[in-house]
Amino acid sequence: MTLFENTERAFIHKSKSELYKTYLLFTIFSYPFFVRISGQLIVFLLKIGFPIKGLLKRTVFEQFCAGQQEKDSIKVVESLYNFKVKSYMHYASEGQKTSEGMEESLKKILETIKLSQNSEALPFTVFKSTALGPARLFEKQTEGVALSAEEQREWEQALARINRCCDYAQELNVRLLIDAEESWLQGAIDQIALTLMKKYNQDAQPLIYTTMQMYRNDRLPYLKMLIDEAKSANFQIGIKLVRGAYLEKENQRAIERGYPSPLCPTKEATDENFNQGLYLILNHLDHCELFLGSHSEDSTQRVVDWMKTHQIPANSPRIWFSQLYGMADFLSFNLADLGYQVVKYVPYGPLKEVIPYLIRRAEENSAVQGQSPRELTLIKRELKRRSEVKAVGK
Ligand SMILES: Cc1cc2nc3c(=O)[nH]c(=O)nc-3n(C[C@H](O)[C@H](O)[C@H](O)COP(=O)(O)OP(=O)(O)OC[C@H]3O[C@@H](n4cnc5c(N)ncnc54)[C@H](O)[C@@H]3O)c2cc1C
Repeated sequence: MTLFENTERAFIHKSKSELYKTYLLFTIFSYPFFVRISGQLIVFLLKIGFPIKGLLKRTVFEQFCAGQQEKDSIKVVESLYNFKVKSYMHYASEGQKTSEGMEESLKKILETIKLSQNSEALPFTVFKSTALGPARLFEKQTEGVALSAEEQREWEQALARINRCCDYAQELNVRLLIDAEESWLQGAIDQIALTLMKKYNQDAQPLIYTTMQMYRNDRLPYLKMLIDEAKSANFQIGIKLVRGAYLEKENQRAIERGYPSPLCPTKEATDENFNQGLYLILNHLDHCELFLGSHSEDSTQRVVDWMKTHQIPANSPRIWFSQLYGMADFLSFNLADLGYQVVKYVPYGPLKEVIPYLIRRAEENSAVQGQSPRELTLIKRELKRRSEVKAVGK
């Protein structure tokens, strides 16, 4: 049995009926064509006001989101913490287009920073840059296109919102992750993240964490450059290491616009790139802190093995394992039980606003090489185990 196959530990937080519901959902996700059609249909039905909110709420929303309000999500955070699984909360409304929407996002981020102050259960917070500034300006900045006077003003407002989050995080001593987005926006996000890390990460423990998407074929040299810069300018880099969430969108855009895809050509190449990045960080823990954002059992096992080989204690403050709420519980709960530092990404927000997030999760789970088969096998095993225990108990 591998470290992560203890299903009793993995699903300790779920009742039998909850497990059945999850099993049903992941079974549905294992039909990619159905998921693709459903995603488009749901967006359409919501647009025309068709009453499907109740169904969505009881199924996919409850699986992947902690609640519509902050107070519902806190209950989820507490229930995870009962099993030593920590959390970081995120108001998951995406792609804000108006300045009112961006101010609202700022307010929510500041609220989660406040909530995380002195909280053992909430060691991190997060923001998505395009929730605080217009995506079109991140794109222009990435491409080096000059901004008009009006756009320059909007850009400065976006930077002011980001700085406000960082200042507040520093004031309350709460770590802040910056999500990675599409490559045509990421150049500007990278610039901002580097500036912030230089400014705020002067102490031994970083405050600001950038995100590195290793499905991109340029990230390994970028990571090496960051580490060199951290060494020479003497600051710490917090790195959320992920494979990358926008595979189809990236490749599609590259084809449509006739430029070479910025991504690795195969899953194997992404994995190889990811592993190289992973070991590079682990071998520079004096200047880096690793936040492993992955549901891959192989990647997780690699870090655990590396820690054992290098006699790094499971609860090392330099290494964090993170999974999304509703996914890869077999990693989260087993790791936490073994004493490793685990943080679940816990999104919340009004149903209508989190639909893009939910659709991404459903699609991710229905990918040919996705997690569904693994989740299904383990849930089935746990249901069988519980029935056997009950039978023996009779
Ligand atoms: C805590 C957490 C935070 C995250 N934050 C972000 C974020 O800020 N930004 C972001 O973009 N993503 C983020 N993600 C999502 C992440 O990038 C992955 O999409 C997701 O976790 C699946 O990758 P994996 O390592 O878990 O698993 P795996 O199943 O091992 O890998 C799947 C991934 O491999 C890559 N891949 C699959 N097929 C191919 C192919 N044919 N060619 C090249 N590459 C391929 C893709 O990146 C795909 O998502 C986050 C994930 C977690 C768990």
